[in-house]
This record gives sequence, structure tokens and C-alpha cells, in this order.
Amino acid sequence: SCIPDRIELCSNHFKAAPKVPSHFSSSNVPFSLETLSLDGHFSFENNQYAANDFGNMHHFLPSAVLHPKSVYDISTTVKHIFHMGSGSEFTVAARGHGHSLQGQAQAHRGVVINMESLKEQEIKVFTGERPYAEVSGGHLWINILHETLRYGLTPKSWTDYLYLTVGGTLSYAGISGQAFKHGPQINNVYQLEVVTGKGEVVTCSEEQNADLFYAVLGGLGQFGIITRARISLEVAPKMVKWIRVLYSDFSTFSQDQEHLIASRNSFDYIEGFVIINRTGLLNNWRSSFNPKDPSRASQFSSDGRTLYCLEMALYFNPNDENNMTQKTERLLSELNFIPSTLFLSEVSYLDFLNRVHISEIKLREKGLWEVPHPWLNLLIPKSKINSFAKEVFGNMLNHSTNGPILIYPVNKSKWNNRTSLVTPDEDIMYLVAFLSSAIPSSTGKDGLNHILTQNKRILQYCATAHLGTKQYLPHYSTQEEWRAHFGSKWRVFLNRKSAYDPLAILAPGQKIFQKAI
Ligand code: FAD
Repeated sequence: SCIPDRIELCSNHFKAAPKVPSHFSSSNVPFSLETLSLDGHFSFENNQYAANDFGNMHHFLPSAVLHPKSVYDISTTVKHIFHMGSGSEFTVAARGHGHSLQGQAQAHRGVVINMESLKEQEIKVFTGERPYAEVSGGHLWINILHETLRYGLTPKSWTDYLYLTVGGTLSYAGISGQAFKHGPQINNVYQLEVVTGKGEVVTCSEEQNADLFYAVLGGLGQFGIITRARISLEVAPKMVKWIRVLYSDFSTFSQDQEHLIASRNSFDYIEGFVIINRTGLLNNWRSSFNPKDPSRASQFSSDGRTLYCLEMALYFNPNDENNMTQKTERLLSELNFIPSTLFLSEVSYLDFLNRVHISEIKLREKGLWEVPHPWLNLLIPKSKINSFAKEVFGNMLNHSTNGPILIYPVNKSKWNNRTSLVTPDEDIMYLVAFLSSAIPSSTGKDGLNHILTQNKRILQYCATAHLGTKQYLPHYSTQEEWRAHFGSKWRVFLNRKSAYDPLAILAPGQKIFQKAI
């Protein structure tokens, strides 16, 4: 089996054409899968969807898709492939909701496991002092929300979009406007059940098999397939006060964001976004928001300036409205936004968390959802955010953008650094997300090539200016880049790979290791 250096060597060579011994050619492996006795089944045809993802840029067809009905199905399949040994190129990718961006959930000529077919297993909610939900790795967060709300409970930390699976987001981090307070989703899990790259089923937590637990959290699917997770819950609010204010000066905007995340008694959600060169601004971006002062707001003009929108939310219950109003006013009085640009809205907790789904429906109607998504997500140390903003928003992108640009700080003291997630070295870092959509046939500024070039320029600037940034949802094509990404965590990452997936069977679409053959 692969010892660490052997894996390193393998990953050095992942571009080389793999040698497949004749008795394990790719065409007869699917045949051997058919002999396995399972609760679920394999499909060998009509698997094109498994060669696609939200990014819509990488397409690798698997030989088979497993539709598991039980953990046993997954463990049996992985074990079978493991026991073929290093003589076959066969790999396995768990596929959650397929919302990866660069083929990370694909397995070229391998087996894709359709994790959502596990979702028929019940979501179990446990009330009490330390409430939690017991869910399968293939459950969508939206369904977990619906179920926990029936008990007046909710997970604490979210992503902006809820049609993603538990296994999919826990393989990265799961970051949204609550992360400054609760840490990312990977910090709000009590226990996991995992099928390792050897096909073993292992229960792990902070107390039991802790190394595997932390390896898998943020582990890019490299160490095991998450088949079950125990998610920590809190009491759910009924309503949300949702607030947006504008700034024209970046450092005032970021100082206010940092002020808010530093306070113990702050909002429940803090994010922000950049508005570049948008005319018709006030009719456009605020949709269901009302200006606090309609007449002054109607006179506000962006004059083509780049603006920064701070977005905040406070959870409350209808019987607590007075307290909520007082707290909102107190927090807002500490900020330095443009006074006429205070916009307010009140929505249910469910509608607030599910807000991106409304955009999805609209974009789908216009045929603009299933287009290429060359997204770029960065984590930037606080000390470098002003330089970054000046160069990127003020210079590189000062004319147009191809989608939202989110920007908000998180406080890392709430984050557990034993997970596989890699972050910049400072205590406070910003998530900056360029969520671009490309128009498929365009060769202009909204075309894929232009946006990819722009992303490259941003990354080059970060490197040459030594900003100490890290990619979130990272994507690299050489081992040198992966090594640099992991930095001092690379050795641990390699050791864990050799312990839990020694043949490098799992999640080949991340392109970190190639199966040893
Ligand atoms: P997939 O794309 O199916 O899988 C992702 C990776 O995880 C693959 O390598 C796969 O092999 C592996 N994997 C999948 N399931 C398992 C499992 N059970 N066990 C082990 N490995 C597994 N992220 C944020 O943090 N915050 C956001 O606010 C946010 N918003 C988003 C909004 C949209 C519209 C989209 C498309 C993505 C967003 N993301 C966000 C990114 C998202 O978290 C990742 O793309 C995530 O991987 C998607 O989940 P999925 O279930 O589709 O996973």
C-alpha cells in the first residue's frame, strides 16, 4: 500500500496516463460490480448527470453510479474496489447535490455514489439540553431545516444556499453570515459515521477516533465518505429583521463589519457585498426592502461609484419585538453608513435562510441557472483586505462584474484548527466570493474565457503582493500548488491519506492524489 511518500509520488504523476493491467481493464470492472449483493443498485447507463455539476465546466463520465440504500452498500462497494488493489485505476466519488464547481464530485470511468439516495433514511431530532439532529450524509440542508423547525429547533451555522448536502458542505467548511458567531458548519457537528477508503465503517467524534473526525471535516472527501452526521441544534427564532446599509468608502465599511463581529451582543448574521457600476441601483438590489426614509433614499444616487452594502440580520420572536427594535437601533447607531441608505425588511426565519432559492427560481425561468459558473472564493487576512479592495474593486474590476461579490469578515477564534480546512494565519479573515456566471456563447466580458482570465489575474495579484490568501473551495492542477495551499498542514494531510485511503480511491475529482497503480 501507499506510504506517505509513495502517495506524494503518485500525486506528482497524476497527469500521466494510468497503466491498467489487462485483467482489470475498465470495461470489466463494472461487470464485477454487478456481482455485489446490495440493498440498492448500480446504474450503468444514463449517467450523464454524474458528469456534470454547478460549475458546468468539467465533464467526466463514470462507468457506474451506485444508488445506495444503506451504509452497507457503500462499504461493500468501496471494499470491493479496495481489494482489487492498486492494479486497477478504479476510483470512487461521493456525489452530494453535484454543486461542485470544477468536477470535484466526478470520477472519470470510476464509480459515483449518488448520496442523495440515502436521504430516504429518516432525519431524527433529539431534544433536551444539547439538542441535535441525526441525518444521512446525503440529506439536503433545506430538508433538515424543515424537519428541525417542527421541533422548534434549528442548526446554528449555514451556507447561503440550502440545496446542498451535509456531506458536500462538511467536506469544505460551510460558511455564511453566522460563521463569525458559531464557526463554520464543520464546527457544529458532534459525531460522524464514515466509510474510509478501505471500506471500513467508523464512528468518530471529538472523543472517539478524533483524528479521522477532524481529517474528514474540511477534508475535501479525501479520507472517507460521510454517511451520517450528528448536527448540533439551538432553539429556532420565528422571525428575522433583515437590514442593508450602504457605504462608498471601503475602509469605513470594513471597520463597521469588524466592529460588529467583535461584539458579544451583536447581530445574528453579518455579510456584505460589493456593488460595482450599477445604474438603477435602488430598484435593483433591494427588491423586498423598504427604505427607512423613502424621500431621502429616492434622492440617493451612486453616481457610478463602487458601493459596499453591509447586510445584517437579527433573529426575534413576535412577542419580543420591542427588545429587537431597541437592539437594532443601538447597533445601527454605532455604524457609519450613508444615512439615507438604511433599508429594512422583516421575513420569517425559513424565508431568510432560504433566500437564494428565490433567485434560483428566477434564474431558472430565464435559462440562466445552468450556465458555466467560474467562481472564485478567497480567504484574505484582515491586515491585507484594504490593499486587496483597492486593487481588485478599485482597479481590476472597476467597470463591471458578472455576478455578486460577497465580502465579510469572520473571527477565527470560534473555529477549530484541528480540521483539514486551511485558512490564513490571522485571527480575523475575510471571505471574498466572486460568484460569476458566464454566458455560454459569449466571447466578450461576460464570456467564460474572460472571467477565467480575470480570476487568474486576481490570484496572481494575491501571490505577487504576498497577501497570504487561501482559496476556499480550492482548485489546483499541480501538486506543488496543493502543497503550497496546505503549507504546514501538508504533512498531516499526507499522513491521514495514507492511514484512511492508502490507495487514493476517494474523491479523485479534487485532483490531489492519483490512485497508485
Ligand atoms: P458535491 O458537489 O456533490 O460534492 C463536493 C465534494 O464533496 C466532492 O469532492 C465530493 O466527492 C465530496 N462529497 C460529497 N458528498 C460527500 C460525502 N457524503 N462524504 C464525503 N465526501 C463527499 N459554500 C459555503 O461554504 N457557503 C455558501 O454560502 C455557499 N453557497 C453556495 C451557493 C451555491 C448556489 C452553490 C452552488 C454552492 C455554494 N457553496 C457554498 C459551495 C458548496 O458548499 C459546495 O459546492 C458543496 O460541495 C456543495 O455540496 P454538494 O452536496 O453539491 O456537494
